Amino acid sequence: MDKAKRKAIIAGNWKMNKTPKEATELLNAIAPLVADADCEVIACVPYVDLAAAIEATKGTNIKIGAENCHWAASGAFTGEISTGMLTEIGVEYVVLGHSERRQYFGETDETVNKRTKAALAAGLKPIVCVGELLWERECNITEEVIARQIKLDLWDVTEEELKNVVIAYEPVWAIGTGKTATADQAEEVCAFIRAQLAKLYNQDAADAVTIQYGGSMNDGNADELVSKTNVDGGLIGGASLVAEKFAAIVKAASK
Ligand code: PEP
Repeated sequence: MDKAKRKAIIAGNWKMNKTPKEATELLNAIAPLVADADCEVIACVPYVDLAAAIEATKGTNIKIGAENCHWAASGAFTGEISTGMLTEIGVEYVVLGHSERRQYFGETDETVNKRTKAALAAGLKPIVCVGELLWERECNITEEVIARQIKLDLWDVTEEELKNVVIAYEPVWAIGTGKTATADQAEEVCAFIRAQLAKLYNQDAADAVTIQYGGSMNDGNADELVSKTNVDGGLIGGASLVAEKFAAIVKAASK
């Protein structure tokens, strides 16, 4: 399958930014700018913004995602959100295994896998984040790190379920630092991820998976990054909070 046949996805990851009122304002500003996008457009927003975001994007081509979900259907998990709570209000995507969850909140490949399985079972589309630390890259173990994350995070995910999985390659050293991976570095690892998926599933299944790049992607570098064969869009942090910048990235992915 060639790149043109895969679905390019530009997803904003708002992190812990924007109140519900601000979310509505930002989405109202983004919507007309991306109305003719030739790629999927998603905003992944804080939990309390979800209802407002879904309301604000009714009748637009913007889909809404959450920034995490728990694996249990309900129970004594203070501070967590279940998949059912998300699907009931119309959430379609969920970011899982973001490096900030792994670094600051003890997320492991095992919990990322549990969340991924639960999300898929509930009909949510997980955006599973993988990426190496700077030190791991310097020690030349990027491929080992990524192979391990892909294998563990997708453990027991069936080929049928894989059709609803999006992978985001996010080198940790590039997130929120202003240091973008070069387009060649991004392509190299995204191609490696696809090769790993081909080993774990098969080539056809791997060819159909959307693999995004994330890490200081912005309106200035998106064109080159998304032009690469195995880079099918981006997961955007900082630049997704500015309507014009986010729209410019969507435009780059629509070419
Ligand atoms: C992210 O949070 O997933 C991200 C890529 O952030 P930024 O674009 O700000 O580096």
